[in-house]
Amino acid sequence: MTPESDIKYLKGVGPQRAETLRKELGVTTVGDLLRHYPSTYVDRSKIYKISDLQGSELPLIQIRGRFVSASVQGEGFKQRLVCLFSDGTGTIEVVWFRGVKNIRERINPDTTYVLFGKPTEYNHHWQMAHPEMDTEAAAESQKGLRGVYPLTEGLTRKNITSRQLHNLMIAALDNLEGVKDPLPQEVIDSQHLMPLAEALRAIHKPANMIEAERARYRFKFEELFFLELNIVRYSRHRSQQLLGHRFDRVGDFFNRFYKECLPFPLTGAQKRVIKEIRADMNTGRQMNRLLQGDVGSGKTLVALLTMLIALDNGTQACMMAPTEILATQHFESLSEMAGQIGVNIRLLTGSTPKRERDEIHRQLLDGSLHILIGTHAVIEDAVQFKNLGYVVIDEQHRFGVAQRARLWQKASIAPHVLVMTATPIPRTLAMTVYGDLDVSVIDELPPGRKPVMTVLRFDTQRQKVYDGIHRQLLEGRQAYIVYPLIEETDKLEARSLEEGYEFISHLFKDFRVAMVHGRMKPADKDRQMELFASGKAHILVATTVIEVGVNVPNASVMLIENAERFGLSQLHQLRGRVGRGADQSFCILMSKPNISTDTRKRLEIMTATTDGFIVAEEDMKLRGPGDIEGTMQSGLPINLKVASLVSDTQIMEITRAEAIKLLDADPHLIAHPDVAATISKLFDRSMDWARIS
Ligand code: ADP
Ligand code: MG
Repeated sequence: MTPESDIKYLKGVGPQRAETLRKELGVTTVGDLLRHYPSTYVDRSKIYKISDLQGSELPLIQIRGRFVSASVQGEGFKQRLVCLFSDGTGTIEVVWFRGVKNIRERINPDTTYVLFGKPTEYNHHWQMAHPEMDTEAAAESQKGLRGVYPLTEGLTRKNITSRQLHNLMIAALDNLEGVKDPLPQEVIDSQHLMPLAEALRAIHKPANMIEAERARYRFKFEELFFLELNIVRYSRHRSQQLLGHRFDRVGDFFNRFYKECLPFPLTGAQKRVIKEIRADMNTGRQMNRLLQGDVGSGKTLVALLTMLIALDNGTQACMMAPTEILATQHFESLSEMAGQIGVNIRLLTGSTPKRERDEIHRQLLDGSLHILIGTHAVIEDAVQFKNLGYVVIDEQHRFGVAQRARLWQKASIAPHVLVMTATPIPRTLAMTVYGDLDVSVIDELPPGRKPVMTVLRFDTQRQKVYDGIHRQLLEGRQAYIVYPLIEETDKLEARSLEEGYEFISHLFKDFRVAMVHGRMKPADKDRQMELFASGKAHILVATTVIEVGVNVPNASVMLIENAERFGLSQLHQLRGRVGRGADQSFCILMSKPNISTDTRKRLEIMTATTDGFIVAEEDMKLRGPGDIEGTMQSGLPINLKVASLVSDTQIMEITRAEAIKLLDADPHLIAHPDVAATISKLFDRSMDWARIS
């Protein structure tokens, strides 16, 4: 047999199990099976003494001894086998609930057994349920590390256990003859990686943990290497084949705005990133750039100034925002800023009336519309530009990759793209997930900002909190009051919000209260937002629809109800709505009283720092990389089995460098047909993905 052989011919498999393995793990060949890696290992070399057992969370362990007694108790369903097992240092109760008769017959009081299971303490004595039971000789052959395999429900239902999978792996390892390593030899050599055959053996049956780790490293490397190779290959293709607009002019729009309309001097960081963007737009290649900057760092102004460069070079610009509120707000502030220099800016959202929409379509086509701001509505097919040169996407995590692709197709020459985000992600990771991106960072807040003072409060302190808000309102400031969004029960959400609205309106009788939530008609939403933005309303009661981007610098209080229900990055975004002016602002996290230690820790991170990078880091630590990883994974063309996008960024960088080296030496992979074949096998559905910028 070879690695290509059908799995059903492997010893211990057969047609039925082969079908189960195919269905559950996508395994059809012996080679496929070996790519189902263990998630961890159990150590079967060490024997514990019963007298040494202590602690509440013990791992799977082995003990060696004899059965002192064994009796079948109960009847029918409740039947169980209860035994006493002694190793000379102490005794442990061993229980079986299934296969009682069979096991009872196997137990011989004169034989020494090795039991492998998880001891638990129960009523002051030790107990082990359903251990694996081996004679000493059999245990000897099990010695050493053994893989523990991820199981699916389907596997468990068909009685395929981790131990059985391990046995299949051992059988499969005998059939590695002629296995082909997909990694190029020079990469294996230069990185001192374990060759495939050795690594397969070492990951399934390692001699020690060091070997297991080396094997795992190799497989992570392999996954990331092909991922990076694919990205680098396509980005080279893009830069060689796809021309971009050359914006070599800085003209009237930019200069007049800069001289006459700039509302405040730019920060050093804003100046720097505008320079970076300008240079990048003038290379003749399409720009594909990520602009990172914490909430409140002034990304919108950068977007505007760089859009003016696009206009100066005779093209149109488009800015996309994830929500209607945000699009509307961008539209209003940009019109106010740039209206004076004769820039024609329009807003297009799902609720734009047909007549206006038709007019926008017409102006876009005849070129009289300079800047289009909008939501997803701008990617509809009906929206066609005369000459789209530049696209800005605000808060990218809300836009799927496919949606970006549609914008891209609206021009014969690919428009320059700037993606703006407040989420800090490492550069290599960004490139891996979003393709070949350049990155600009605004690492400085506008001057005079005082960090938002953040406190954690409970129901008992409610009155004091309201008193504080009252004082701010009297000083002419405004306040947000946010209620959590309960997705499964929209009605409940609206109710708790409406109740909140009633309550707040009543409590702050002398002030005007506005309200927005996601289920409102867009026109109503706009009206309410407008009331708050113009200062006519003093309090805005809202759901998280205001989470992203909303800018009302006069607001100085953010009260978040049921803060314990929010994630850290969400809290950080919400808090970013205040502290946008020069005055001291406050963020109050209102929590129910009985919260877990973890929740408390999470909320206290918010009170301890206002730095978005630290918040993101802590968020990752607390929630584990899982959540963030899930989101990012969805942007990838393949599923990663062993490598982690979050914790393996270092390997990612090495693989990227190796991928670049390989393509420098052999751009079309002519000398590496196997590598080319692996790539097309892995990524054949991702052609479009790779074109996206
Ligand atoms: P974000 O990066 O979160 O999108 P915004 O672009 O909304 O931030 O800017 C936040 C606030 O800071 C806005 O009120 C904006 O007018 C103000 N701002 C932007 N740049 C400067 C600057 N250079 N000096 C002072 N205030 C600025
Ligand atoms: Mg913003």
